[in-house]
Amino acid sequence: MFLTISTTGTAGSPATDLGFLLHKHPDRAQRFSTAHGTAHVLYPEATAERCTVAMLLEIDPVALVRSARGKGRGAAPDSALAQYVNDRPYAASSLLAVALGGVFGSAVKGQCAARPELPGVARPLRVEVPVLPARGGAGLVERLFAPLGWSVTAEPVPLDERFPEWGDSRYVRLALEGELTLAEALRHLYVLLPVLDDSKHYWVSPDEVEKLLRAGEGWLERHPEQVLITNRYLARRRSLTRDALARLAEADDTGPESLDNAVDEEKDTAEKPVPLAVRRREAVVGALRAAGAARVLDLGCGQGQLVGELLKDPRFTEVVGVDVSMRALKEAARRLGLERMSERQAARVRLLQGSLAYTDRRLAGYDAAVLSEVTEHLDPPRLPALEYAVFGAARPATVIVTTPNVEYNVRWETLPAGQVRHPDHRFEWTREEFRTWAGDVAGRHGYEVGFAPVGPDDPEVGPPTQTAVFHRRDAGPDRTATAATTTTLTKEATAV
Ligand code: SAH
Repeated sequence: MFLTISTTGTAGSPATDLGFLLHKHPDRAQRFSTAHGTAHVLYPEATAERCTVAMLLEIDPVALVRSARGKGRGAAPDSALAQYVNDRPYAASSLLAVALGGVFGSAVKGQCAARPELPGVARPLRVEVPVLPARGGAGLVERLFAPLGWSVTAEPVPLDERFPEWGDSRYVRLALEGELTLAEALRHLYVLLPVLDDSKHYWVSPDEVEKLLRAGEGWLERHPEQVLITNRYLARRRSLTRDALARLAEADDTGPESLDNAVDEEKDTAEKPVPLAVRRREAVVGALRAAGAARVLDLGCGQGQLVGELLKDPRFTEVVGVDVSMRALKEAARRLGLERMSERQAARVRLLQGSLAYTDRRLAGYDAAVLSEVTEHLDPPRLPALEYAVFGAARPATVIVTTPNVEYNVRWETLPAGQVRHPDHRFEWTREEFRTWAGDVAGRHGYEVGFAPVGPDDPEVGPPTQTAVFHRRDAGPDRTATAATTTTLTKEATAV
């Protein structure tokens, strides 16, 4: 099993910085023992212009068979011979992924003590895997890597070069090129190599969900093949896949399609639950309608799902999505089809880059602002700045805030106790904490606030999502609409 990663030198960084990033010195060949064999790391070339690291994994097929026994799921097909004669020793697979994660652990995490600035910088990378088992063929390889910014070459390997009429094997020779950080590249490989191989060498347990979410952070939330990736990575274990997809949707609101498809794929006969992200959007749109808002800000709009939803209703005459992440905005523009929109439709929508931690004049004068699953992405010391930017400076008549209810986390099957739902959440509030924050904010800025649950309101721990609807006290005649808003959201709306 063999994989190489190459980079070229850039203005600020010679190619040999790859050695720093990987914590492996380019002048030395090193060996690491892994559970199933030995990983060799060496650099076939290391100059300031060009540097290549190679990982060669020597697998002991007998040890592999032994270790797979008794773990519920073998690495090899069941026949006695196949246990010893199989492709594992040379085909890139979950074994290689595990070795990458182990040997280059800090690089995967994006850590580099000696040069802390290095891991964050995207650089020209080329990855080659000469023999990659690819169930789904070259087309799937392209669909998995291309959306992540790689240009992909996947050539099918013929079954036997002497007999071309036999056709292609299930292997491809893979080359990826792109300008990414090394940590991104390693995380893509860590997840996607086993996904393509589609046969895990170890038993998939619930902590695999954590590993997937950690390695998938920042890209899996928005990947068009998210369902396939999650399903295969978790070896088609249905409850794990469902849980992982729900948590990805929590993280980035990837929309209803993914969960529904996952359920379809499994031929589920039970009633399909409505994904939380969809319920959240319904609640927000309902509250905006009830408030009579026409010009709306979606603050922290992510990939623009809510913006898209609002554009379907002509009563929303202007919809502005704001986000700090350029990448999210680009994806939003693509999803919304901004380029292809009629002029009239395009005049209703704008996407702005900006941080909510700073006052922004462009945000003044709107009817309503939505902060859906955004506050928990800010460090708590930044919250007063957000509060001022939204309630003090922009001052829309209506503000709708949705955020996770941390008390509900005990109901997520795979979420370890004490952990937040997504690695980028800086905190998650209890119902009490959210009410206190929202009540104080309302008091300081002349708003009234009501609260509402989204999702099943558990008698003990409350709903998965909590919502606050603020109405500016001096906002004029539409007070009744606000009252209606709060009651549509909850029967026990409480005003503070
Ligand atoms: N509102 C969307 C996305 C939530 S994810 C939804 O409900 O699905 C949180 C979003 O907030 C991300 O897109 C992130 O880029 C954005 N964000 C985080 N901090 C921000 C800040 N300081 N200013 C603006 N956007 C921010």
